[in-house]
Amino acid sequence: MELDILSIAQRIPTEADAYKFLEELRWGSGQPTCPHCGCIDDHYFLTAKNGSARKTRTGNLSQRRVWECRACHQQFSVLTGTVMHGTKIPVRTWVFVIFELCSSKNGVAAREIERKYHLTPKTAWFLLHRIREAMKPGPALPPITGRVVADETWLGGKPANRHGHRAGRGGQGNTAKTPVMTLVSRETGEVRSRVVANVRGPALREVLLANTDPQRTHLHTDSASAYRSLGKGFASHSAVDHLAGEYVRGDVSTNQAEGFFSQLKRSIDGTHHHVSREHLDRYLAEFDFRHSTREVSDAARMERLMGRVAGRRLRYTEAR
Ligand SMILES: [Zn+2]
Repeated sequence: MELDILSIAQRIPTEADAYKFLEELRWGSGQPTCPHCGCIDDHYFLTAKNGSARKTRTGNLSQRRVWECRACHQQFSVLTGTVMHGTKIPVRTWVFVIFELCSSKNGVAAREIERKYHLTPKTAWFLLHRIREAMKPGPALPPITGRVVADETWLGGKPANRHGHRAGRGGQGNTAKTPVMTLVSRETGEVRSRVVANVRGPALREVLLANTDPQRTHLHTDSASAYRSLGKGFASHSAVDHLAGEYVRGDVSTNQAEGFFSQLKRSIDGTHHHVSREHLDRYLAEFDFRHSTREVSDAARMERLMGRVAGRRLRYTEAR
C-alpha cells in the first residue's frame, strides 16, 4: 500500500471511511479486541440502517462505526481506549495529521495544522501531542544488544532571546539547554533518546542499563571521560577520539547519533522554534519513532503507530 495525502483523501471521503481506514490499519484483517473486557474475536458490527450513518440516541446521524462485544455487551469503536478516545476532532482530520506526522522528516508545526485543518491553536497543539504520545514505545521495551552507539547533545535554549538569561552566557553549561542522551542500534537502526539530568557517569549509566543488555552490547562512544569507567561493564567498549581528530575507526564511530542529532536540532529550530523541557520527551518519542522506522514506507509506519495507540490516554491537563 503506497500512501500520500491525495490517495488518503480519495480513500476516506466520509467519516465512516476514515473509521474503516483506521480499523484496517489497527486490526488488519483480524478481529478487534474488546477494549472493555479484552475478549478477542467475538463482536458484531452494529450495522447502519441507512447507508453508513447510524441514528444515535439523540436522533442525530452518526458515521461512527461501532462494534458490540458479545461477552460484555459493551460498545466500542476503533477510537475507544486510545489516544483518540472521546475526540471531537473529525476522524478524517486525525488520519491526515497522523499521516503528516508519520511522513514528514522534520515534524509538523502546530500552527500549520491549525491553519490547514481549521482548528483552534489549543486543539491543533493537543492533537499533535496525543499522536506523539502514541509514538512512545510500550512499557515492556526489550533491551538493545549488539553494537550500540551512545552519545549526548544539548537541546533548546536560545539564551540571548529569553528572559532571565543574559546574552553571552550560553554554551553547553547554560541551564536553559537540556541534555539528551541517545542510543542507536547499529544492528536494527532503532533509536532511543532520553532526557538526562546531566551528562555525568551515573545519569548516563542509568539510561544505558535501562535500555541495553551490557553483557551482549558492544558500546561505541566518543572519548568523553564519563564513558571510561562506564564502558567496563559492557561486552566491549570502543571510543573514537574526537579531540585527536578521529571520527571513524573501523566500524566504530558516533556518526549515527550525530546524524540523528543534527536532524533533531534542525527541526526544533526550524519547525518548532522552541521546545520546552517538559514536552521534550514527547518530541523525542516522535523523532525516535520516525528515525527508527526510516527504512519502512509511510504506510507501514502509520500501521506501526496504530499498533501503539491502544491503552494510552493523554489528558489536556497532562499535556500542557
Ligand atoms: Zn467485551
